[in-house]
Amino acid sequence: MTTDVLVIGSGIAGCSAALAAARAGARVTLATKATAPDECATWRAQGGIAVPRGGPDALARDVRAASDGCADPDAVRALVDGAPEAVADVLLDTLSVPFDRDGDGFDYGREAAHSARRVLHVDASTGRHVLGPFLSHLRGRERVTILEDTAALDLLARDGRVHGAWLERDGDVEACFAGATVLATGGIGALFPRSTNPDGATGDGIAMAARAGASAEDMEYVQFHPTVAGGDEPFLVSEAVRGEGALLRDGNGERFAARYHPDAELAPRDVVARAVARERERTGEVTLDVSPLDFRAAFPDLAARCAARGVEWRSGIPVAPAEHFLCGGIAVDREGRTGLDRLFAVGECARTGVHGANRLASTSLLEGLVWGLRAGEAAAGYESTRIDAPPPLDDDPPLPPAFAADKFARLRRIVGEHLGLERDPDGLRRARAALRRLKGEADAYCRTRTSRDLYELRAACVTALLVARAAGRNPESRGCHHLTAEASGRAD
Ligand SMILES: Cc1cc2nc3c(=O)[nH]c(=O)nc-3n(C[C@H](O)[C@H](O)[C@H](O)COP(=O)(O)OP(=O)(O)OC[C@H]3O[C@@H](n4cnc5c(N)ncnc54)[C@H](O)[C@@H]3O)c2cc1C
Repeated sequence: MTTDVLVIGSGIAGCSAALAAARAGARVTLATKATAPDECATWRAQGGIAVPRGGPDALARDVRAASDGCADPDAVRALVDGAPEAVADVLLDTLSVPFDRDGDGFDYGREAAHSARRVLHVDASTGRHVLGPFLSHLRGRERVTILEDTAALDLLARDGRVHGAWLERDGDVEACFAGATVLATGGIGALFPRSTNPDGATGDGIAMAARAGASAEDMEYVQFHPTVAGGDEPFLVSEAVRGEGALLRDGNGERFAARYHPDAELAPRDVVARAVARERERTGEVTLDVSPLDFRAAFPDLAARCAARGVEWRSGIPVAPAEHFLCGGIAVDREGRTGLDRLFAVGECARTGVHGANRLASTSLLEGLVWGLRAGEAAAGYESTRIDAPPPLDDDPPLPPAFAADKFARLRRIVGEHLGLERDPDGLRRARAALRRLKGEADAYCRTRTSRDLYELRAACVTALLVARAAGRNPESRGCHHLTAEASGRAD
């Protein structure tokens, strides 16, 4: 199979890249391992999309402040400058996303750590109202072919250049040669015991890029969302609910957030997440008190989700932090170019520098949109080249179905124990050792088998190791990377 641009992943970043590449005249193949549109984080996005309402400077300031001073100012500027046109062109003119309105204008939402009401949203289900029309639009374009239930296993890379990827579908593996390849594979939530992400968020793109020689940066900055309800089947209660006045209460019914930060419930996510975890430990429970607002009127879909899960929101929604977003990823420039020739990365799998050590709410969809469009356009200018590449060996009989799942459960235990909200150097050392062993096993099995779950396991091992290594090398608690008080100052 040959194509001009191969895009891997069908969330907002992949769709944006595909759209821009097709508009620039390229033939685009968009491969996604998702079998349904909801198998990506974009579909689940709730609060919405921040826009630089009232001028770019205030949004840029908020992004940098939330990042604990670690965001790259040039990247932040590229985000806020690119936002108005991208939102108007794609979301409004091309896709006609039905953002909530208030009279003649938009009903802009407020979220934590934002100094203004500036978040475009559709109820608290913004993601599906963006992605549904996006996929329909792409399906109707002549130059775009969408391959569903098709997983990229590895990149076709030689001498620092990427020529496409090995794609697997129904157990068959085929090379897809491309002029340029865009990774848009999303986050890494599946590595953690509790996450808001879909199960397929196994870090595939980051692992493929790292194995081919691209660098990953800021991998220690894994963001946990403070208000995630539900036990074994976690579901997010958007930051917009606190933006509209909901309060956090400890197990004794007392408010506590102001003890941790002057902005109380509206402090940056990393601060609130640690506060919630500590108060749960201290008093047994933390609930989100939605009585200050008309919850059912303001967030009908969240009220319905609570009801469907048997959560009685009138008496306070029990919440706990869960993994939510990776601030780091494959290092890219302003056009999404990685360090490898003809390999681009966009969206959550990429590290643009926008988020630094902690992401500001509702800036991820925007980042995927802005960088996706830039990368797609830049990727469109190359001719595909074939290289001689031996297909991955698939000589050995398949392993029992539970095999990879059992190893994955082990990985989640290691990651949950040592790479969570608070870390210490001994734990990080133990995690690295255990993950290296697990990766060795996954490597060995992948040498002679091509099953998707084994490749996901290997990708998860590589990605978890990148997180553990980055965390072990960073002795400074900033944003989402937090060393326990005893550990501070003695990280290796
Ligand atoms: C519950 C929830 C709520 C959120 N709310 C907001 C919000 O309100 N505002 C905001 O800005 N951000 C929000 N976020 C974050 C934001 O949704 C994500 O960061 C963003 O959607 C990521 O987009 P993406 O295109 O990079 O990845 P995704 O949307 O996750 O898409 C990744 C795609 O890659 C595919 N894929 C992965 N590996 C492979 C492979 N090997 N081969 C082929 N395909 C592959 C997946 O199947 C999927 O289609 C939220 C996230 C969650 C989980």
